[in-house]
Amino acid sequence: MIAGHFGLATGVKAREQSVPLWLLLLGCQWLDVVFVPLFATGVERIEPLAGTKPGGYGSGVIYADYTHSLVGAVLLSVLFGALFGARYGRRASVVLALVSFSHWLLDLPLHRADMPLLPGNAGNLPRLGFGLWQFPAVSAALELVLVLAGSLLYWRAALGVAKVEPALVRRAHLCGALALGTGLVTLALNVAGM
Ligand SMILES: [Zn+2]
Repeated sequence: MIAGHFGLATGVKAREQSVPLWLLLLGCQWLDVVFVPLFATGVERIEPLAGTKPGGYGSGVIYADYTHSLVGAVLLSVLFGALFGARYGRRASVVLALVSFSHWLLDLPLHRADMPLLPGNAGNLPRLGFGLWQFPAVSAALELVLVLAGSLLYWRAALGVAKVEPALVRRAHLCGALALGTGLVTLALNVAGM
């Protein structure tokens, strides 16, 4: 899931206007951002499933045992909020930490029971994930709902701000359309790998 996370970030921006959108977008993907170097060094890995196209939409079992473990995700989210939110105040730190953790919550229904509780899957406890990726159409529909809801909330909020200053209305429409368009294109590209 990529587009769905972005949808959530734009939705949060509609309510938390003091936190920059780019920071919310970074926050909603923070766990995947940290995943990249760990994946490159082989610490975390993706195993393709037999019978699916490697790299296709939701086609692998993801052993992101540090970034996507429950405890790891909480720690990374607190770290993100503390690092990036500090200059915008305590509320921004909490919002950014929650947005970062929302990534784990939104991944939970999609992943194929590959998300551990403890970092490194310590103790070999049961892994979590409801496996919606077995049904790509359902997963894509869920992401689409997030993209539509998030970007439309954002669009409406941008127009609300613009009401005070009529000259800003065009800009608000531009930002709203851009958020919606980017979300839809991201989802389309992601799903095209199906
Ligand atoms: Zn993820």
